[in-house]
Amino acid sequence: MNSKSQSPFKVNLHELPRRAGEMREYAFSFPAAEPIGVPLLQITAGSQISLAFKAESVDDGVLITGQVKSHAVGECGRCLDPINQEIDQRFQELFLYASRKSENPEEDDELFVLDGDDADLEIAVRDAVILSMPVNPICSQDCQGLCPQCGEKWAELPEDHSHEVVDPRWSGLAGWNPSSGPEK
Ligand SMILES: [Zn+2]
Ligand SMILES: [Zn+2]
Repeated sequence: MNSKSQSPFKVNLHELPRRAGEMREYAFSFPAAEPIGVPLLQITAGSQISLAFKAESVDDGVLITGQVKSHAVGECGRCLDPINQEIDQRFQELFLYASRKSENPEEDDELFVLDGDDADLEIAVRDAVILSMPVNPICSQDCQGLCPQCGEKWAELPEDHSHEVVDPRWSGLAGWNPSSGPEK
């Protein structure tokens, strides 16, 4: 299980005494190796990710509580303008001692396990970042988006902007004679 020891999300907790109630604080930052986010909003590869957290020894393992900070860029889901969003999100995760996990292999499938002294925070941080992101990012709450006909921004179009378009659902009614009744 040492193959991923180079992951920048891994923290070595050997300074933390394995006695319930003991606590140590950690902080470090590194450039993202790959993008984190949703299709329209991402921390891009190379952007700085800063982690600051405390690790507390508890009976079954180590509880990690902290904050991830970074910067995401994306596209407004309505008008496609660029979006910049600061990421400042809390995360908390319990990492079980491997011995505690092996005593109960059936349960706690969803929980994280310490790898020796290492806790790999990648999934916890990634999940926290993605949860902090809107599903449909927009540049501002009152963004009016684009005219569906010409693709121009409503904000930049004159107020009376419109297109003479006949909805195809209505064009079939042009020759409809009420006396012949509805077609089936
Ligand atoms: Zn917008
Ligand atoms: Zn238009």
